[in-house]
Amino acid sequence: TKYVYRFGGGVSDGGRGDKNLLGGKGANLDEMASIGLPVPPGFTISTAFCAVYYDEGRAFPPSLRDEVATGIAHIEGVTGKRFGDAADPLLVSVRSGARASMPGMMDTVLNLGLNDATVAGLAQVSGDARFAWDSYRRFIQMYSDVVLELDHARFEEALEIAKEDRGYYLDTDMSAADWQGLVDEYKSIVAELWGRPFPQDVHDQLWGAIGAVFGSWQSDRAKVYRRLNDIPSEWGTAVNVQAMVFGNMGDTSATGVAFTRDPAKGDNAYYGEFLINAQGEDVVAGIRTPQYLTKAAREAANAKPASMEEAMPEVYGELAAVFDLLERHYRDMQDIEFTVQQGKLWMLQTRSGKRTAKAALKIAVDMASEGLITREEAIARIDPAALDQLLHPTLDPKAARDVLTKGLPASPGAASGRIVFTADEAERAAAGGDDVILVRVETSPEDIHGMHAARGILTARGGMTSHAAVVARGMGRPCVSGAGSLSIGKGVMRVGDREVKAGEIITIDGSTGEVMAGAVPTIQPELVGDFGTLMEWADGIRRMKVRTNAETPQDCRTAREFGAEGIGLCRTEHMFFDAARITSVRQMILANDETGRRAALEKLLPEQRSDFVEIFEVMVGLPCTIRLLDPPLHEFLPHEDAEFGEVAKATGLDVDTLKRRAAELHEFNPMLGHRGCRLGVTYPEIYEMQARAIFEAACEVAEKSGAAPVPEVMIPLVGTKRELELMKAVVDAAAEAVFADKGRRIEYLVGTMIELPRAALRAGEIAEAGAFFSFGTNDLTQTTLGVSRDDAARFLTSYVEQGIYAKDPFVSLDVDGVGELVKLAAERGRATRPEIKLGICGEHGGDPASIAFCESVGLDYVSASPYRVPIARLAAAQAAL
Ligand code: PEP
Ligand code: MG
Repeated sequence: TKYVYRFGGGVSDGGRGDKNLLGGKGANLDEMASIGLPVPPGFTISTAFCAVYYDEGRAFPPSLRDEVATGIAHIEGVTGKRFGDAADPLLVSVRSGARASMPGMMDTVLNLGLNDATVAGLAQVSGDARFAWDSYRRFIQMYSDVVLELDHARFEEALEIAKEDRGYYLDTDMSAADWQGLVDEYKSIVAELWGRPFPQDVHDQLWGAIGAVFGSWQSDRAKVYRRLNDIPSEWGTAVNVQAMVFGNMGDTSATGVAFTRDPAKGDNAYYGEFLINAQGEDVVAGIRTPQYLTKAAREAANAKPASMEEAMPEVYGELAAVFDLLERHYRDMQDIEFTVQQGKLWMLQTRSGKRTAKAALKIAVDMASEGLITREEAIARIDPAALDQLLHPTLDPKAARDVLTKGLPASPGAASGRIVFTADEAERAAAGGDDVILVRVETSPEDIHGMHAARGILTARGGMTSHAAVVARGMGRPCVSGAGSLSIGKGVMRVGDREVKAGEIITIDGSTGEVMAGAVPTIQPELVGDFGTLMEWADGIRRMKVRTNAETPQDCRTAREFGAEGIGLCRTEHMFFDAARITSVRQMILANDETGRRAALEKLLPEQRSDFVEIFEVMVGLPCTIRLLDPPLHEFLPHEDAEFGEVAKATGLDVDTLKRRAAELHEFNPMLGHRGCRLGVTYPEIYEMQARAIFEAACEVAEKSGAAPVPEVMIPLVGTKRELELMKAVVDAAAEAVFADKGRRIEYLVGTMIELPRAALRAGEIAEAGAFFSFGTNDLTQTTLGVSRDDAARFLTSYVEQGIYAKDPFVSLDVDGVGELVKLAAERGRATRPEIKLGICGEHGGDPASIAFCESVGLDYVSASPYRVPIARLAAAQAAL
C-alpha cells in the first residue's frame, strides 16, 4: 500500500476529494497546489497508516521509511535545500490533519531539522543569527514538549529567568547570543529530564515527530474532542511534513489567520489577524496581541497598530485575491493560514471555516442570493443542532448593566453564571446543576471539557482567532476573549479596583464583548431575517410535518411561534401533578372502589377540561394528539404525613388505611408494571373522565371560535389489538355521550402509541383498531434494548466509548435495532390501513439523525419539544433533499 502523497512544486498526488485518506489539511494543501497557489512543498502520510501504526505497536515498517525518504527528496528537489545539510539546511514542519478539523487538539512540531551544526548554516544563509538561534530554541522547546513529553513549564521558566536576568520585557529584546545561551540551558534541561542528550540526528528527529503526531490521535484531549463532536476513533489522523517558511525573518515577514467572511456574524468582509515578525503558533496562542487584517476592521475597533492592508499593501492585495479565489473554488467560507516570508506570500492551510449559527445562516443565505450555491445547498449546510444557539435568549437592551470591563466579542450570545477559574471546577459545578462562566487568562486544548460544561467563557488574553474564540464558536458557547484589563489571581478576578470572587455571578455578552457584574435579564429572540428566510426555504422542501410535545398553553404558544403544525404528544399526567389538584388525584388512586374513584374523578374533570380548552384555543384548527394517563399510579402517591392527612380529610378514610393502600401499590419494576393502557383496562373510569374532558373542551372551543380543534386521542403502551379495542370503545362511548349532550359532533381520531416490541410486530392487526400510530421511541428503545431509560446513564457512556452503540440510543435512534421495528410496524400498519397516520413522539423526534431515518421510512410527521421545532423543520428538509 502507498501511504505517502506529495504536493508542491507543480506536483499534487491528491486533491480535495481525498479528505478521508489525506485528512482535511493534506487534501486542501494538494488542492491549493494544484490550482497554482503558493504552497510550500511537502508530503502527507495518509490516515490509513494511523491504524497500521497502532496495530504495529507504534512502529514503522521499512516500506514507509522508503516512502518518506522519497517524500523528503521531493521537498529537497523543490527547495534546493538538503535535510541535515550543515551549509543550507532544509527545515520542515510536522503537523497532524484529521478528516474533520480538530482545532488545537493534536500536536505540531515546527523548525524540525535544526541541530548544533545546521543552526550555523541557517544563520549563514539567512544572514540573521538571532533568527537562527531563536528558531533552534523554539524547536527544542516544542520537540521536548510534544515528542519527548517533558514538562514544558521548565522551559518557560528558563526563558522568563533569562529575560529577567537581562532586564528584558519582550522576547524580541533577546539577542542572538542570548538565544544561544538559552539553547544551552534548554539542552541541559533535556539531558536532566530525559536522561539523554537532545537528538541531533535530523532523521531521528523526523521519526520521533511523526510518531508523536500519530500518537496524539489517542491523547486524552483528542478523545474528549472526538466524543463531543461525534468523530469516530477509526478515522485516524494523517501527518503532514512540509518545508518551513518563516514569518519571523524580520519586518517584511509576518504570519496570520484569516476567514473569508466574518465567522461570528457572517458579514461578507475579510476577517482576520496577523503578526509581523512572528511564527505561526504565536497568533493562535494569544501570546502577543495580533493586529487587524483590514483597515476597516482596525478603524471600527479604534485600534492603533497598522493593519496588514496598511503595513503590507502589496502582499495584502495578493492575499485578498487568494481569498476570493478560494471562496469561489470551494464555494464556502474559508479559514486560512498564511505566512509572508520576506515579502513572499505562502499558503499553509485552507478549510471550511467554523462559524456560529448566526454566521452560518447569514453566509448560507447570502451565498444562495449571490448565486454561489443553490437554496438546497444552503439548507444542507446548516447544522440543525446549531440553531439552538439562536433560539435562546439575548440580553434585554433595556435592562441596567453594571459593566466591569470590555473584551473582544469572540462568540455571540449572552450567558450568566457563577465564575470558576479552572476547567475541572467548571465541570464539577455544572454537574451539580450550576450555571458557570469559565474565566481563564487564556484557554488551551486541556480546558475543552470545562469550556463545554460552562455557559460562557471569558479570557484575559487572546484575539478573535485564539483557541478560546475558535473553540467557543464551534461549541456555540458565548465567549468574550482578550479582556486585557482583567487580572486573575487565586480565586478572584480584578478589574480596576473591583473584585469578583469565585462563585459570584457575572454576565458576559459575546456579541458586544461586555462583561457585567451580576445577572442581567434576557429576552426571547425574534425569528426573522436570515433565520426566517432559511426556514421558509426549508418548509418549501420538507415532506414531513413537524408537531410539538407540549402540555401547557405557554409551551404550545412557543411551539407555534417556532412553527409547530400541531401537537404530537400532550402528556396528560403532567396536569395531574399540579399542586392544586394533587389531592384529588391521590384521592382517586387511594379509593377503595370504583365509586370512590368516580367521586374523585368528578373533581378532576373540570380541571382537565379547562386545561384542554386553553390548549385547543392556542392550537385551533391543528391536530392535537392527547395521550391518556400513562405512568404508574404510585408516582402520584403522598409521601409526607401532612399529605396523607389532606387525603384523609378529603376521603373520610383514616391515615393508616391510606398508608396500607399506598404500600399495596408498590411495584418492583414500575416501568413494566401497572401503567399505560393497563390502567385504563383495570380502571376504565379514568380514561372515560379524560375522554369526556377532551370532547367537552373541543365542543366548547368549537362553539366559541367557530373552528374546531382535531383531537387525536392516543392510548399508551398498547401491546395487543384487544387492549386498543377496549380503550377505543371507552373513548367512543364518552365522545357519543358528550356529542349528544352538546348537540354537536367533533371530528376526532383514536389511535395508539407503538412503544412495545409486541405492538410493532402485531402492527398489522393493531391498525384494524386504531387510526394512527405514534412511535414512542423512548419506551420502544427501553423495551427493545432491555435497557432502563432511567438507569442507562450510568453505563451508556462506556458503551458509546467502546463503540457498542455509536451514540446514546435514547438520544439518537438505534436505527439497526429499534429502527427495524419502526420500519416493520409502519409497513404492517400501512398494509392493513393505507391511510394510517404515522408519527414519532419519543425524544428522537427532535434529533436530526433520527429525523432522517423517519423520512426514510415515510412517517407523516415528527414531534419535538418546542425549542427543537425549528431544528426538526430544518432536519426534515435536509432529509427530503
Ligand atoms: C415514549 O415512550 O417514547 C413516549 C413518548 O412516551 P413517554 O416518554 O411519556 O413514556
Ligand atoms: Mg412511553
